[in-house]
Amino acid sequence: MGKPFASSADLADKARSFEELAPGVYALTAEGDPNVGAVEGEDFLVCFEAMATPVAAREWLALLRERTGKPVRYLVLSHYHAVRVLGASAFGADVVVAHEKTRELIAERGVEDWASEYARMPRLFKEPASIPGLTWPTLTFGDRVAIDLGGDRGTLELHHCGRGHTEGDLVAWLPERRVMFAGDLVESQAALYTGDAFHRDWAGATLDRVASFGAETLVGGRGAVARGRAEVDAAVAQTRDFLRVMLRETGGVRERGGTLKEAFERTHRALAPRYGAWPIFEHCLPFNVSRLWEELDGVERPRVWTAERDREVWEQLQG
Ligand SMILES: [Zn+2]
Repeated sequence: MGKPFASSADLADKARSFEELAPGVYALTAEGDPNVGAVEGEDFLVCFEAMATPVAAREWLALLRERTGKPVRYLVLSHYHAVRVLGASAFGADVVVAHEKTRELIAERGVEDWASEYARMPRLFKEPASIPGLTWPTLTFGDRVAIDLGGDRGTLELHHCGRGHTEGDLVAWLPERRVMFAGDLVESQAALYTGDAFHRDWAGATLDRVASFGAETLVGGRGAVARGRAEVDAAVAQTRDFLRVMLRETGGVRERGGTLKEAFERTHRALAPRYGAWPIFEHCLPFNVSRLWEELDGVERPRVWTAERDREVWEQLQG
């Protein structure tokens, strides 16, 4: 008997931790569910990530409203994945900010990604009928953009560090506090999803660039907040190691003329001792190895995941 599809059998609510990382800098983590954050400006809020539905987002906003009533001027989206963007309407933000590639990816594959992620992780889609449609960024950038927080609060910088988890990831960096929100470019004690990734860029120059900021507090895409340089370095190193093991094992099978199924099994065996118990490991790995196999075959941009293709790959590798 095969494993239940993706995270379709993961229906238990996760314990949430709402933390103030520095004055006016907030994060909500939840045992491996997608993390969200917020930064207070002088008379407005910047929110980071939007959750999967407006109803889910309103639960997060209710927690935030216990600390501040400032209106949300900016909603920053780290990348295009549905579980991070489709709750956007709940924020009432004046400006929705993303990388220019993220906007293109939403136009190209946002509908398919919505269906795919809903089937993979139904629990995150609280009251899916509350989603009014795709989320469209209203401010996009290529390399970097800065948001003046007003008063003596400094700036919040948004940087594109290269291709990684997707083609258009951004990180949010608060230089005054040395706090980074890294989106899914860094995971802290959670498995990586690489089904839309550029593994070689991510494991190399992109993570080098993320690390070069020297963050002292880092909120990754999933998992606990990394506090202090040692934990931040460990989260970056874990992310890089996961990618390198995938490249070595899947690449090795490919060079020997093996099959995708063999690559999946070898990669699984190599990763499982260290990462097998971490959130979404079993869920992600078939999609991860499929994408890496194609990347190594010279398929430049990740193929679109549809609900149908998800099931085929699952049956082939985890069934
Ligand atoms: Zn993602």
